[in-house]
Amino acid sequence: MANETQASSYYQATANRNISTQALGGDVAADVVVIGAGYTGLSAALELAKAGFKVVVLEAQTVGFGASGRNGGQICTGFSPGQSRLEAQLSKADAKRCFDMAEESKRLIETRIAEHEIDCDLTWGYLHCIPKPHQFSDLQKWAAEYEALGYGGNTLLTKAELEGKLGTAIYHGALRESHAGHLHPLNYCLGLAAAALQAGVEIFEHSAVIDVDTGPSPKARTANGTVSAKFMVIAGNAYLGRLVKPLYGRIMPVGSYIVATEPLGENRAKSLIANNEAVANTNFIVDYFRRSADHRLLFGGRASYSTMEPANLAEYMQPRMTAVFPQLKDVKVDFAWGGFIAITSNRLPDCGRLSPTVYYAHGYSGQGVALSGLYGKLLAEAIRGQAERFDLFAKIKHFPFPGGALRTPLLVAAMTYYRIRDVLS
Ligand SMILES: Cc1cc2nc3c(=O)[nH]c(=O)nc-3n(C[C@H](O)[C@H](O)[C@H](O)COP(=O)(O)OP(=O)(O)OC[C@H]3O[C@@H](n4cnc5c(N)ncnc54)[C@H](O)[C@@H]3O)c2cc1C
Repeated sequence: MANETQASSYYQATANRNISTQALGGDVAADVVVIGAGYTGLSAALELAKAGFKVVVLEAQTVGFGASGRNGGQICTGFSPGQSRLEAQLSKADAKRCFDMAEESKRLIETRIAEHEIDCDLTWGYLHCIPKPHQFSDLQKWAAEYEALGYGGNTLLTKAELEGKLGTAIYHGALRESHAGHLHPLNYCLGLAAAALQAGVEIFEHSAVIDVDTGPSPKARTANGTVSAKFMVIAGNAYLGRLVKPLYGRIMPVGSYIVATEPLGENRAKSLIANNEAVANTNFIVDYFRRSADHRLLFGGRASYSTMEPANLAEYMQPRMTAVFPQLKDVKVDFAWGGFIAITSNRLPDCGRLSPTVYYAHGYSGQGVALSGLYGKLLAEAIRGQAERFDLFAKIKHFPFPGGALRTPLLVAAMTYYRIRDVLS
């Protein structure tokens, strides 16, 4: 896969890494072996260790190497395809329980940051901006839907009201959420890892699992050792590749890219996003951006289905950024990086069991900053014998993506359709 390093990431350059780990060497026994040290794996590990389980986490690279250390940092509400997709599969009451749990996922971030004193620039406030005037009625429906779900405190802004709040005139209105927001994703992930270590979890970095036994006595093997456990949690998400065959077709890796400008100074940064919200447009192929704590603009978007990173990422992304903020034409881009988002065919997260002792969760479809922490918690609940909440999500049906030669071309065709729809709608 492309994106094997994070060397050019702004997050790496500003990481608060105060953990120390080693690689697995030899054979270890545990109650639970977790594959992957992103939010999902670390959240499950932390909860299980707090409940008295002996937990070992195996990470192929370093903590936060995957999407959890590369993402846009945007803490979103609900589920990527919207509530109706849940209601199409579950009863209205169960779909509402899912929404309530998605709300819980945001509170979980807040409480974990407070409890473990994680320094990761958590900021609340989110603007969803419409590129076309006629989409204002979509925002009104969205606000009403949130209200009906008991999630209030959101404000509709007309184009005129948006003036002064964003340094661009290209949007025709916005929905402002007060309880969605943004954070430094890698520092949040590193903070979770530090909390997990403190709770007694053993984390082995540079310990890629190369073989798994997903039978009743699960085992994960690396080049230099083996972990035998009573339970296994597979949390490799888009970076898992083909390690676990039954999971391969359930998600598709989609490349997303971010640039960080040079520091702009506080006033100039404020002239772009006055109230420091996270911002995204409402297109299917979304542009997302926010300010960093050191007054840069972090601008993400695009989508690539080939798993090949574009040759010059900064040049690839800059026109997208200057289409929104033409005043940044001459600003230097200091960092450009990408990562893989795991999407499912219906864009709802996917979780379940491969056997009574082997669990997985993945495919948050671009909304995993909050949801992955929740799913980690639900994985832990299920392993502790309280599977009711996990099973509600496990009930959701997903159609696997085709394998072989058809896999990528079909996705490209689907996404081309959505791109055209964004332009025409
Ligand atoms: C560029 C980008 C922007 C995004 N922006 C946002 C956003 O703004 N808001 C939002 O909500 N979501 C966003 N997402 C999605 C979000 O980051 C993910 O949903 C979330 O981080 C998933 O966490 P995870 O722990 O499941 O997976 P990951 O963070 O990907 O962790 C998986 C880990 O498993 C490890 N692993 C894989 N295979 C093995 C193996 N064989 N052995 C050992 N370890 C292995 C990997 O190295 C990796 O560290 C974005 C994603 C990307 C890539």
